[in-house]
Amino acid sequence: MCGGRVDMAFVLRAFSDGADGVIICNCWPGECHYVPEGNYNAVNMMNLTRKLLDHIGINPERLRLQWVTASEGIQFADTVTDFTNTIKELGPLGSNEGLEADEIKVRLQNLTKLVPYIKIAKRDKLLRHLENVEEYSTFYTSEEIDQLFKEIPSYYIDPEKCQACGTCRRRCPVEAIDGDKNLVHIIDQEKCIKCGTCLASCPPRFSAVTKLVGEPVPPPIPEDKRKIIRKPKKKD
Ligand code: SF4
Ligand code: SF4
Repeated sequence: MCGGRVDMAFVLRAFSDGADGVIICNCWPGECHYVPEGNYNAVNMMNLTRKLLDHIGINPERLRLQWVTASEGIQFADTVTDFTNTIKELGPLGSNEGLEADEIKVRLQNLTKLVPYIKIAKRDKLLRHLENVEEYSTFYTSEEIDQLFKEIPSYYIDPEKCQACGTCRRRCPVEAIDGDKNLVHIIDQEKCIKCGTCLASCPPRFSAVTKLVGEPVPPPIPEDKRKIIRKPKKKD
């Protein structure tokens, strides 16, 4: 119903499902029906998404945000015709980019997995409301996006510190944490979407979760070594 609701994950899913182009038609700035800044959120999110597409080698022209309201029928028809022509010129996804379909699929999958991390890392900028909507076109720089990818974190549970309380496992949104009562918990790095919830939720008295940036994640300890041997409490 509102362009401000269109998440970057929706756009990536459309491309992953075979779309060669995605257009979002949004009410004009200042004319949002729902909240004052819905269309500002849309232009902000879509400019970031365009930079991300560019970073993974997809032509950002394949994603367009257009101001056109429901009452502007002629403009809508012209807009769609123009966008369709642009996409026809670019050809099927990957052809203009010089990438095979399988490679595009993998790149889109990898980027989709990073959406939670990207939205958290860029949260402050995504909430910024610029007075001049044109300024969003240069709001995100290529250097900044490169840096974003250099700083992709991994989360690791230190087997020496984990006390198997299970808090992180219960709170992980994608069930990426394996563990049980009295067993050291392990993060499945393939499933992890890098949201950082485990780091935030591990009780401070254990502080077993570490955020790693730019260094490899230690391999998980073997299953037969995960049992936690608790020391008996001393009696007074
Ligand atoms: S960062 Fe932690 S909570 Fe978030 S997905 Fe990864 S393992 Fe789960
Ligand atoms: S919250 Fe911390 S102590 Fe509890 S299971 Fe997870 S890593 Fe281990």
